[in-house]
Amino acid sequence: MTFRVLIADAMSAEGLAPLLGDDRIELVQRTGLKGDALAAAIAEVDAVIVRSTTTITRESLSRADRLRVIGRAGVGVDNIDVQAATERGIAVLNAPSGNTISAAELTFALLLSLVRRVPAADRSMRAGEWDRKSFAGTELFGKTLGLIGAGRIGSEVAKRARAFGMRVVTSDPYLTPERAEALEIELSTLPDLLRRADIVSLHVPLTDSTAGMIGAAELALMRKGAYLVNAARGGVIDEQALVEALRTGHLGGAALDVFEEEPLPEEHPFRSLPNVVLTPHLGAATAEAQQNVAIEIATAVRNALINGDLDGAVNAPAIAGDEMRRLRPMLDLAERLGALCACLSDGPVRRVEVRYSGSSDEAIRPLASAALIGVLSNVVGRGAVNFVNAIHLAEARGITVERGRIGPVRDYAEYLELALSGSGGECRVAGALLAERHPRIVRINDFHVDLHPRGTLVIIRNRDVPGVIGRVGTVLGDAAINIAEYHQARLQAGGAALAAVSVDGQIPADLLDLLRAVPDVFDARQVELD
Ligand code: NAD
Repeated sequence: MTFRVLIADAMSAEGLAPLLGDDRIELVQRTGLKGDALAAAIAEVDAVIVRSTTTITRESLSRADRLRVIGRAGVGVDNIDVQAATERGIAVLNAPSGNTISAAELTFALLLSLVRRVPAADRSMRAGEWDRKSFAGTELFGKTLGLIGAGRIGSEVAKRARAFGMRVVTSDPYLTPERAEALEIELSTLPDLLRRADIVSLHVPLTDSTAGMIGAAELALMRKGAYLVNAARGGVIDEQALVEALRTGHLGGAALDVFEEEPLPEEHPFRSLPNVVLTPHLGAATAEAQQNVAIEIATAVRNALINGDLDGAVNAPAIAGDEMRRLRPMLDLAERLGALCACLSDGPVRRVEVRYSGSSDEAIRPLASAALIGVLSNVVGRGAVNFVNAIHLAEARGITVERGRIGPVRDYAEYLELALSGSGGECRVAGALLAERHPRIVRINDFHVDLHPRGTLVIIRNRDVPGVIGRVGTVLGDAAINIAEYHQARLQAGGAALAAVSVDGQIPADLLDLLRAVPDVFDARQVELD
């Protein structure tokens, strides 16, 4: 069988080598296609590969009955209508690793430019000056680099920092101590890192929990004169707060490759601050990265066509119609149980157990994937984990995934139990469908509960003594937070108790701190279940 692959944007022969070397694959190279011509070309092939020039719209896929795979030579898939592809069961693959080294090297280019003031010295030379006094810098040797996020790029930055004789401290809640030890970096908390680092560099994805993670309070924790580097994503820093910290001189400088709004607006204050080094999102802009991502995507497309290997897919090809519709409520419940369990767990997760009791033998794998989507969404970014790649992503992060069926549980026809364990202990939650349609969370650790898995839930662990419910209600009421449901469970009178409070809207971090400070409350956490 021969597979036809349309190469819709220019790619070098080296980049296409994995496809050119396989006689089961026939390449059709046609660049610059748009509109109807693109739809007609796509109708004739099994796979299409694009860089960023060609846009694949819903219309481009309107006749794509043969198409199984869309490959994007790069990370972002903004130029592909992923939803339309998913609806047609077409896998969308990307190439997330090929630019790792380039992004790590750019981080170092920014870092050195910042501490040795290279761009400013260059500007002064071009203005005809020979000024050796204004550009005194700082050595990296012996300094502490604080890495926020130590995944692919962060760990490459760490290796380079060690070669410069720097100490490396990292804050990455999903990094295991074993991995940190292998990387020879010290694992710490974000506040500790911010207090200790001479230079802080961000390497996290943009997720609900990283958006705005460096704001005024975090910048205030940084040492006076410290430097900040961001080559991750714009939204992780509060830009206004950063401008302030630079203006007041609290920070020595910042080097930025990524911005909340790109292109950076012409009048943005960053452009006029002297202690800022700016580059226009150049992390992956090297010949090598472009070639690596081309090879990576060509290999992934070949493996998808020939072996059906879809591990790197960014979307979820639909489970066949009827089965999907039937499973939908349990899949939604599984994802919410995953998010809840992840929120209640401490430290990196090492093992995930998914146990299912219900009618379908085929359900356990998609249910495990759905639970992992909930567990991993805050780790890798909501869009980056899906049914197709969830198990693979978990295993690639060193998480053991156990899944299996169990016998009937009480009188629940469909029941799912999820346990996460790691260095911070074990967390166990369970959910079930009532009357075959109504999802409920029925257990949190040892507590039996009956909760709608919807909206914002605040989980409070407290001592079962009089007055706690009233005091919690007062704290929330004073902050104008409306309580939709208050569910209290306990193991025995006077012992440990758990409250699950469903509230309207989100609770700010300082209000959660107030709840934790309520007498007889041990802990309060918030989880968004959509
Ligand atoms: P990755 O998924 O390999 O690593 C991200 C790491 O961040 C993971 O180890 C994860 O555990 C950690 N993390 C998640 N939430 C965290 C939190 N709240 N606090 C601390 N750590 C957290 O990703 P990567 O390939 O290393 O990419 C890192 C970032 O760089 C991404 O934002 C990516 O989009 C960006 N990037 C930018 C460019 C560029 O051109 N500037 C190029 C490539 C990648």
